[in-house]
Amino acid sequence: MKITKLETLCLSRMHEPERQWITAKYRTVKADCAIVAIHTDEGLTGIGEASAYGVPSRIREWVEWLSSALIGRDPNDPTIAPHPNGKGRPHDCAVGGIDCALWDLRAKIAGKRVSQILSPDAADKVRIYASSGCRYDWRKRPEQLIEEALDYVAQGITAMKFRIGTDWVWDGVTVDRFLGLVRELSQAVDGRMDLALDGNCRLTEEQSMPIALELDRLGFAWFEEPMPRDNIDGYARLCAAVEMPVTGGESFTTLEEFRPYFEKKAYDVVQPDAGVCGISELVRIAEMAQHYGCKMYPHSWHNGLMAMAHAHAIAALPNSDILEVCMIQGPLQWGILAQPPQIENGYLHLPDRPGLGVDVADDVVERFPYIEGHYAITIDR
Ligand SMILES: [Mg+2]
Repeated sequence: MKITKLETLCLSRMHEPERQWITAKYRTVKADCAIVAIHTDEGLTGIGEASAYGVPSRIREWVEWLSSALIGRDPNDPTIAPHPNGKGRPHDCAVGGIDCALWDLRAKIAGKRVSQILSPDAADKVRIYASSGCRYDWRKRPEQLIEEALDYVAQGITAMKFRIGTDWVWDGVTVDRFLGLVRELSQAVDGRMDLALDGNCRLTEEQSMPIALELDRLGFAWFEEPMPRDNIDGYARLCAAVEMPVTGGESFTTLEEFRPYFEKKAYDVVQPDAGVCGISELVRIAEMAQHYGCKMYPHSWHNGLMAMAHAHAIAALPNSDILEVCMIQGPLQWGILAQPPQIENGYLHLPDRPGLGVDVADDVVERFPYIEGHYAITIDR
């Protein structure tokens, strides 16, 4: 079998005005998707989603450039996969998409699920968490966060991650005011769902420490990227101060970038993203995490094909047990797939089919034509 062609499907969907969401200073106005397909001369095709943060049209250019090393080659040749280099996001996202598509293709050739190739003992379902809590506005109705959380409880979802809301400077939000909302949320949920907070690197260490101590007291599942990533010693101090895991690393694309965080005990859980580094690098990072006694919860934003790549990795890896599912991507998220997987009672079930177990829907290019331009606009108040 030989690889004949690589193509990149660039897809978009504008959010309806009521579905647009603001976090920090950004209003997100559309959903994007980039899918890499690797075709062969025997009719099998491998598919993988690249993180749209690499910009779909720029990912397509890199996939075209990288394809010369794959066309005409045996898909099972272990030397053909490109590697992330940590130097440019569009390049590494293209690598991520190609690597995920190669895993899908190789598993299809072997007649096995990707998870079974990673581990014969792989589970056939993975626990999910609802990733959102980024619609609430400190100026309007911050309690929207609590209503959203209770909606997830009603859906049978057992964990949720939320963010810190619109720009705190706009409305004079303090750590105390924020923690007031956090305590209200925690009381409303009342132990029916695990809670986690993502700081999106927006807090100082002086803000992060009291928040971490309170989240720890409230039994939070983790505290993600509170501070800028370069404050590695600050992360180490935070890790040492609380029992609750401190997590991060979603934008790192190589194992080597995680080294100081492992060595300084600056993360308890690492969060690589197969859409920016590929399944191969994600597994390397998870194995090193295991060596350091850390867990790996993949960062999984955007669309359903990415969720499937991560679901297979989580099902197989010993130190990974929860899948992020973006709750605000809109109809593009699962509409790209011909048969979305079953999600029930807080678990995603891996389809009993080879590869990643899903196909791209036939009419995605017509239904979700690509829209150039940034997915978010900066706003000022
Ligand atoms: Mg994050």
